[in-house]
Amino acid sequence: MAVVYDLDGTVVRLAVDWDAVTREVAATLERRGVTVPDDADLWKLFRLGREADQIDAVERVISAHERAGARESERLACADLLARDAPTAVCSLNSGGACHIALGQHRLREHVPVVVGRDAGPWEKPDPEPLLAAIDRLGVEPAETTFVGDGERDERTAEGAGVEFVYASEWARRA
Ligand SMILES: [Mg+2]
Repeated sequence: MAVVYDLDGTVVRLAVDWDAVTREVAATLERRGVTVPDDADLWKLFRLGREADQIDAVERVISAHERAGARESERLACADLLARDAPTAVCSLNSGGACHIALGQHRLREHVPVVVGRDAGPWEKPDPEPLLAAIDRLGVEPAETTFVGDGERDERTAEGAGVEFVYASEWARRA
């Protein structure tokens, strides 16, 4: 059985203050003339940045925080399971660069031949495409894959891809 893992909150916890990132992205967009609603969360801002053709500037802010947070990331229980499972991939909403740093930080990179990050394509979870891309690159079938994640967005991603889903807490309990 192949196992695809979400990264943040599943394999590691990135040391990122997401509220601070959200404020910085909002300020970046405003400086570039984009009108930002007061209650916009980071994903709303991400989409606004894309629509306004400012996604590169948004990406620079988010990924700088993610890379720093990956270096300081906390190892979670699923990290040990990931080293045991094979084949494994990571499918994350974080940038691929941050995923590689976090995996390297915890000596997991050799166990993860496939990383599909936010910048791997024009879609993001809960769109099933990034998960299907990870499965395809592993050379396995959705029906023989389990996706392990920590959020409802992950669960919906798996559902859309026709892949079994298990919450990280449950996956660690089963081990
Ligand atoms: Mg997560």
